[in-house]
Amino acid sequence: GLEMIGVENLKKTFALKSKVLGIQTGEVHAVNGINFGIRRGKTLGLVGESGSGKSTTGRLILRLLEPTEGKVTLEGRDISKISNREFRKMRKNIQMVFQNPYSVLDYKMTIEDILIQPLHIHKIVTPLEYKKEVERLLEIVGLSKKDRKKFPHEFSGGQRQRIGIARALATKPKFIVCDEPVSALDVSVQSQIINLLKDLQREYDLTYLFIAHGLNVIKHVSDEVAVMYLGKIVEIGEVEEIFQRPKHPYTMALMSASPVPDPEATRNRIQLKNEIPSALNIPQGCSFHPRCPKAMEICKKTEPPLEEYKTHEVACHLYRGEEAYHG
Ligand code: SF4
Ligand code: MG
Repeated sequence: GLEMIGVENLKKTFALKSKVLGIQTGEVHAVNGINFGIRRGKTLGLVGESGSGKSTTGRLILRLLEPTEGKVTLEGRDISKISNREFRKMRKNIQMVFQNPYSVLDYKMTIEDILIQPLHIHKIVTPLEYKKEVERLLEIVGLSKKDRKKFPHEFSGGQRQRIGIARALATKPKFIVCDEPVSALDVSVQSQIINLLKDLQREYDLTYLFIAHGLNVIKHVSDEVAVMYLGKIVEIGEVEEIFQRPKHPYTMALMSASPVPDPEATRNRIQLKNEIPSALNIPQGCSFHPRCPKAMEICKKTEPPLEEYKTHEVACHLYRGEEAYHG
């Protein structure tokens, strides 16, 4: 099917400079050559610990950061190389919902003014229609028309996230990066926001990249799941395959770490050794080997490529045939 968003060999390297010496002293490979596509109306869940490069990926797609290498396509068109002027014209098609809506909701502005901003900047409706459009936006995210005169601090965390979503929807986007949109909310509120995002997706044929650090939330929103570790995708496939037949030891570890009372998962609990290494110091070979309970000799030397194994793609020597075991 037609891809709404495509990412090809996307890389972002940050240079580290010594403040004292004024020279470059290292590099951080935050996103290290990733590929994926998201079909129209679908959700790709992107999961991994903090520092895995998930948010950087979202920011690269939105051009909040410039890629070091690779490209991003929107409906087949390369948007990573077009001029800023051209990008501004299509910018309304892609939006972001943040973990902390406070970061985009100016506390001195009324909700009405907050929502008018994108309507005005992108000329979505005429000024005469602002009030009506603001009321419509509030209603589709489950708030009241009367809320438009209030300020952000007068709302609960969940309501503020609804305003963040309304703000993202104001420009009638095709694609939204949802960067941990429920991580800061109470568990009871999380499912309400998730359900709202799903309803809006159906209603407006939205395509999502949904970023989360745990698999719990991902399971309920995603059509496909990509697991990220130290800047790379280590496993990607349809949501049922990932949850029923996880292949990468890291995915299995994330799964057994999820706080769902699943006796099977508890029995097979995989404890990760050590902390996640810094992206500054990515281990050689399979970057997961210092923490992997199944690591073999070859894992320390040779990096496994992401490749198809039966149901979906995985980057792990366990699935690479006889020669892998004898390195
Ligand atoms: Fe573990 Fe080796 Fe697979 Fe890496 S390649 S996940 S170290 S078994
Ligand atoms: Mg993040």
